[in-house]
Amino acid sequence: MTRADRFGIVMRLGRRLACLATFPAPPCSRPAETERPDIPEMPGEKHPLSIQLLETHRLTPNAARVALMEILLASPQRHLNPEQLCAAMLRRNNGQSISSFKKAIYDLADLGPLARVVVSDKKNRSVTFYELADQPVHRHLYCTHCASLTEVFDAALEQTVRQHFLAHGLIPAKADLALPGICADCQPRSPAPCPATSAAPC
Ligand SMILES: [Zn+2]
Ligand SMILES: [Zn+2]
Repeated sequence: MTRADRFGIVMRLGRRLACLATFPAPPCSRPAETERPDIPEMPGEKHPLSIQLLETHRLTPNAARVALMEILLASPQRHLNPEQLCAAMLRRNNGQSISSFKKAIYDLADLGPLARVVVSDKKNRSVTFYELADQPVHRHLYCTHCASLTEVFDAALEQTVRQHFLAHGLIPAKADLALPGICADCQPRSPAPCPATSAAPC
């Protein structure tokens, strides 16, 4: 990893922490969990960001949850599916079991720190991506060709959607159904026009 890469990661971590300060976790009536953490804690030592994010949501930072948060914090992509998350976990090679890691993914998506983005792939199969819930509510556009996700932040749209939920007595789930399409890079290029003076056929 180059010095520039390391600097980039540090800057991203700082921005995400600042964002959390702006958008704190909603008050929670659920009692704090009583499961004992299996992460060693040094007296007086400041917790890493992964543990701070879990504690913001009053969640016990067990090893699988911390590994998951660290993978998402370090990833250059914001949205990762379970297959990508598990591959990243196996590359770390720190003794996590797949089952406890998958449980951490589903738990953290249900309990607050992660948000789900559900996309429909080329074969109409649903795939769920996960991202850190450290951004304001937003929507996603999904390219069915290259599988890229584009985030859309639109406060007026969110207000309208909230009003529709309210009017029909629904509480919005913490998941977004991405709108499918073909991104600019994947759209077929129209052939270049022939130069008017060219004698050779194009
Ligand atoms: Zn594309
Ligand atoms: Zn997103």
